[in-house]
Amino acid sequence: MDISAFTQTKYVAAKPLESNLEVVFTAINEVNSEPCAQPGYDETPKFPFARDKYTPTVVSIVDAKELVSADAATETKRVVELTLDSSPLGELSYDPGDTLAVLPCNDSQVVARLLQRLNLNEQADDTCQVRLVPNCTKKTAKVPTYIPRLTNPREIFAFCVNLHGVPQKQFLSALASCTSDNKEHAFLASLSAKQGAAHYQTLILERGLDLLQLLELCGSCMPTLALLVEHLPRLLPRPYSIANSPLECSKQIRIIYSILTEKPGVTTSMLETKLLLLKEHQAKLFVYPRTQNSFRLTADELAGNQILIAVGTALAPFLGFLAHKQLSGESTSSGQTWLYVGAKTPQALLKQQQLLDWEATSVLQRLRICYSRASNDDEPKYVQELLDKDAEQLVELLQQPTTVMYICADGAKISKSIEAAVRSCLQRILQLDEKAALEHLKELRTQGKYREDVWL
Ligand SMILES: Cc1cc2nc3c(=O)[nH]c(=O)nc-3n(C[C@H](O)[C@H](O)[C@H](O)COP(=O)(O)OP(=O)(O)OC[C@H]3O[C@@H](n4cnc5c(N)ncnc54)[C@H](O)[C@@H]3O)c2cc1C
Repeated sequence: MDISAFTQTKYVAAKPLESNLEVVFTAINEVNSEPCAQPGYDETPKFPFARDKYTPTVVSIVDAKELVSADAATETKRVVELTLDSSPLGELSYDPGDTLAVLPCNDSQVVARLLQRLNLNEQADDTCQVRLVPNCTKKTAKVPTYIPRLTNPREIFAFCVNLHGVPQKQFLSALASCTSDNKEHAFLASLSAKQGAAHYQTLILERGLDLLQLLELCGSCMPTLALLVEHLPRLLPRPYSIANSPLECSKQIRIIYSILTEKPGVTTSMLETKLLLLKEHQAKLFVYPRTQNSFRLTADELAGNQILIAVGTALAPFLGFLAHKQLSGESTSSGQTWLYVGAKTPQALLKQQQLLDWEATSVLQRLRICYSRASNDDEPKYVQELLDKDAEQLVELLQQPTTVMYICADGAKISKSIEAAVRSCLQRILQLDEKAALEHLKELRTQGKYREDVWL
């Protein structure tokens, strides 16, 4: 790429952040080889949405099954189900719909490349401390809580910071300040400027250039470790829905993940690497249970009616709902459970046989499936069409006091389309105008009768 094509001649670079941190290498050799295995933190970092009294805990992966194989022709993602030995979490009480947080780590080769690029190879595993610079004048300056008190460069890059985030303009400006080549300096500085907004849009937001790619483009850019700690965001834990019922086995939890074939994400790549390990030794993960919210099936709600709507891997939490209904004996009660599910192809549908069995044994009173890549044009392709076809009975069921509609989608777009379909059913069947249908849906949300989980 020719960086001069993306460099303005006149620009005012964004004001870089004041530098408040320094990294000091120490003689002490106490760094933990695992993240969060109670290393000394000056202040315990907060783990987002951690349930009371829970911190990241190491659990073993006891089994892994491929539920769906990747298929380029239909753009189907590989889907894997992991069974975790949850005994280290103690007597965890949870409901179907609850989620676990998984701590990611960056790919070891990416970390090695970055260490090499920054000439940190020799010090990669040396103990260091990230501290405030002496005479720091900024009152609010502090060392990020997620950096252990004693650490090393490899640990920081592997477990603490997000290497693939969107570089902010202040960060680009700071990178420019440690770039000696004039052309490269101008490229980074002008990208950070108001005048470079169009190029920022193309290169950073659309093409997704990240730190490593920028460093490859600008060979003379030599940021310090302290500068990177200051600017890179935290590597945050990722939520995964529990895909089983707590009644199935008190010591095992299953999660299901899908992985992109091209440019796979950080956590899902890490999980794939763990699976390779699983063949030889035990593979372990750091996880913690996340706080419960209304996207779950409580004991009271189990006896009522549920309308479940999912597309793709987002069926995962409902596998837990249905297993729970089956095992708690509620399938013989009067509650109705309807499932609307969409997948690209029959091969991409998770646990198809299990769904059919649940229908046959009246765990499910209604099972509607559609395939978006179906060649038959007469068949509905999207769940929205399935909902539309059932509109009258669907609205009638939804109006009953004990009915809750749960929507789980791995994308905000899908969730919006489903919402629009539900609104249109309400409008048509209840003979409302557009505004009144919108109000009605809002009211259903407030009453907790319309609940959704949006994943990405
Ligand atoms: C409440 C909740 C529950 C969730 N439950 C599950 C679950 O049960 N199973 C599950 O697989 N995910 C689930 N997710 C999503 C999950 O937390 C991660 O976001 C996902 O696995 C990607 O993580 P990553 O670190 O690999 O990707 P990142 O490194 O964060 O990904 C970078 C970018 O790649 C894209 N991307 C990465 N992987 C995928 C993918 N598989 N499909 C589409 N786009 C992708 C994303 O757009 C993302 O912006 C849930 C999310 C939430 C909020």
